[in-house]
Order: sequence, then structure tokens, then C-alpha cells
Amino acid sequence: SDGPADMDPAVWDKVKNHPCYSEEAHHYFARMHVAVAPACNIQCNYCNRKYDCSNESRPGVVSEKLTPDQAIKKILAVAQDIPQLSVIGIAGPGDSLAAGAKNTFATFEHLQKKAPDLKLCLSTNGLALPDNVDRIAQYNIDHVTITINMVDPEVGAQIYPWIFHKHKRWTGLDAAKILHEHQMLGLEMLTARGILVKVNSVMIPGVNDEHLLAVNKAVKARGAFLHNIMPLISDPAHGTHFGLTGQRGPTAQELKVVQDACEGGAKLMRHCRQCRADAVGLLGEDRGDEFTADKIEAMG
Ligand code: SF4
Ligand code: SF4
Repeated sequence: SDGPADMDPAVWDKVKNHPCYSEEAHHYFARMHVAVAPACNIQCNYCNRKYDCSNESRPGVVSEKLTPDQAIKKILAVAQDIPQLSVIGIAGPGDSLAAGAKNTFATFEHLQKKAPDLKLCLSTNGLALPDNVDRIAQYNIDHVTITINMVDPEVGAQIYPWIFHKHKRWTGLDAAKILHEHQMLGLEMLTARGILVKVNSVMIPGVNDEHLLAVNKAVKARGAFLHNIMPLISDPAHGTHFGLTGQRGPTAQELKVVQDACEGGAKLMRHCRQCRADAVGLLGEDRGDEFTADKIEAMG
């Protein structure tokens, strides 16, 4: 098909076989996340480190952490079993670019040699993006997701208690300002190289809900091709750190109001399922449990 009327045909050409971006493709192509990135370089108030990073994942799930070698074995086994497999993503369980992004790029380097047809993507909070854009381009990673929850450090200071940057911990407004600048610069550097960037935002009622319109404008102006506004999913059992009483997530109606207000800005994606960091299969399904490292090891 020619794709949506409001999408640049060159962009459509890149995303039409990508299950996360094309409503059509998500019935025919499969994606797989491998959880090779355990560390994180920032703290989000809504994060619980026992579970996967919310950059891309539904909170409250624990993905099986893999070494790059285990990840390659798993991917090659899955590719044999699921011929529709077209996209491999690294989305956690921490940040894919934290700690020098060693595991992330080791995995992509092997994949490029062993399965050059697979499309690669990663998601990140953006702090380490400017340092890694060259390598991202070098490994032909054609999609990057950045989680951007604010474009105003005053708002950011309510979301991020600290970041770890240049060998030290930064807090408060300083931390939020550095994160914001790196997110914007990283987004600009990626789009300048023709790498597709999707922006995720976590909607946090009373913190950034009204502000997301400004986020939408800012990311659109810098070339993001999709903006995906996701609800904060807060479950007392998983513990968000917003104050002592916790922070509620938005209602479906509140989410829709913000998504509608952003219509006409960066194109919105409404079918993201917030898959877990080791999800396998077509978008509506998750066959991750069939492909644990133990089982792959047993297959030889
Ligand atoms: Fe947690 Fe992800 Fe935020 Fe890091 S970027 S603190 S792993 S939610
Ligand atoms: Fe696609 Fe969203 Fe799932 Fe990522 S989390 S694989 S973008 S549906």
C-alpha cells in the first residue's frame, strides 16, 4: 500500500514491514526483544529496578537477562521457528546505551554478520545518545525509540531524581537539564542521519500531562516520525516512587484527551502494546516463554 496519506513515502518505505509502526505489518511480521542491557544511567521516579525499563515495556514484568552470546543463539533459533521474524530490538531491562552500551553493540555486531536481513532497533532514555549515534549508524540500526517525558527541566526534576553522567551523579534541575539537552541533541543527530526516531512519553497525571503537548511539538520539530503517549501504569505492588502515597496512572479518558490534543503534531501511534523486554512473536502474542536461554541451550 502507499501508506497513510499524512506520512512521507520515504518513511513509509522504511516502516511498512515493521510490526510496531504499521498497523498492517503487525499482523504479518514478528518482532523480538532481547534483554541484554541490565544497567541504567538515570533514575525515573516511576521505575522499579526489579522490573523491565519502562522505555518500551509494560511495568511489572521481569525479562530473562541474556549475554550477547545467548541472545544470538536465541535469535537464530527463533528465526528458524518464526519465519515472519523481521525486527530485533534491544529495550532493556535497563537502558540499551548505559555502561558504554557494550552488550548492545556486541549483539548487533554479531547479528549483522549472521543474520544481515534482520532489521535492528533499540530504545533508550537518550542520555547516552550523542556519544553513540555514530555506532548506531555504523550497525545500520534503522529505528531508535527515545523516551522523552519533558522538554522543561522544571518538569523533569519531578520525574528524574538523578542521572549518572561523566562519572558522577547529578540531581535536581542540573540532572534534568543535562538529560533534556542530550535527548534533544540525540534526536537531532539521529534524524540528520536519516535514522527513524519514535518518541515515547509516559503520561503522569499532575506531573507532565498538560506538558506533553509541548513535548509533541518539540519532538516533531526535530524530526521524530512518531510520538507514542503511553499511560503510567502504577500498581502499588510494583511501587512507583512518586511521594509516599504513590502516583496514579491516567484513566483511558485522560489519555485520550492528551492523545487527541497532540493530533496534527507528530504522528501518534496508538497500537503499541508496551511489550516486555524479551517479547517474541507477532504483536498481539508473546511466545517469549518458549524460547528461554535454558531451552535454547538444550536445543544445542
Ligand atoms: Fe528505569 Fe528505564 Fe528509567 Fe532507567 S530509563 S530508571 S531502567 S524506567
Ligand atoms: Fe512495538 Fe511497542 Fe512492543 Fe516495542 S513495545 S515491540 S514499539 S508494540
